[in-house]
Amino acid sequence: MKMVIGNWKMNGNIDLLHSIVPTLLHEGLGSAVALCLPYPYLSAAHSLLKAARSQIKLGAQNVSEHPFGGYTGEISAAMLKEFGCRLVLVGHPERRSLFGETREVTAGKLHAALGAGLYPVYCVGETLAQREGGLARQAMVDELALLAGVPTDRYAVAYEPSWAIGGGVTATSADINDMHLFIKDVLGPGTRVLYGGSVKSHNAGQVLGLDSVDGVLVGNAALSASEFLSICHTA
Ligand code: PGA
Repeated sequence: MKMVIGNWKMNGNIDLLHSIVPTLLHEGLGSAVALCLPYPYLSAAHSLLKAARSQIKLGAQNVSEHPFGGYTGEISAAMLKEFGCRLVLVGHPERRSLFGETREVTAGKLHAALGAGLYPVYCVGETLAQREGGLARQAMVDELALLAGVPTDRYAVAYEPSWAIGGGVTATSADINDMHLFIKDVLGPGTRVLYGGSVKSHNAGQVLGLDSVDGVLVGNAALSASEFLSICHTA
């Protein structure tokens, strides 16, 4: 099965957690499925997954680049591990565009995650302006340079073109294939590359059917058990 990661973003509530997780457990989903939840729900989710001896992985959506100290409001990689996280999203386009996360900060987070033994899902993707200016590949090269020298089995890359996120526009198969092959070309053929951007049950087959796609990062559709399950079954 290809990988399916649900990213709840700042959505949902504890009731949704208690309705979705048991549904996923009932389906016996395994280690190719992961849920990146808001911080406050990680502990409850960890308990549910552990009690069911589930292989579903737990992840966070962000991490501090610092190991500890006077960083009010931040959460360290070691803390995420304590609460059962195995993976963490790093450099999501919303962090970059809405919270001014620079490449330097993203690099720090990437290395904090790797250093703590978390599996970073490193999000890269061009903006609409970069795409229209023919600068998409250069934008990608600059981002991928952060992974130089890191063994490809220690992380995944998520290709997330910001123009395709949340808005219902999915990149075409040709766009996705082109960028995924380019990323694998730069980082090595063994690199796991996921696609994220308006993946729903109705288009999951088309995206996951591409050989260059090793999985999907799912936002809105991860908030519905039936949508998310349908995508998992397609994968
Ligand atoms: P979306 O979000 O599926 O709602 O477009 C994807 C993401 O931002 O990871």
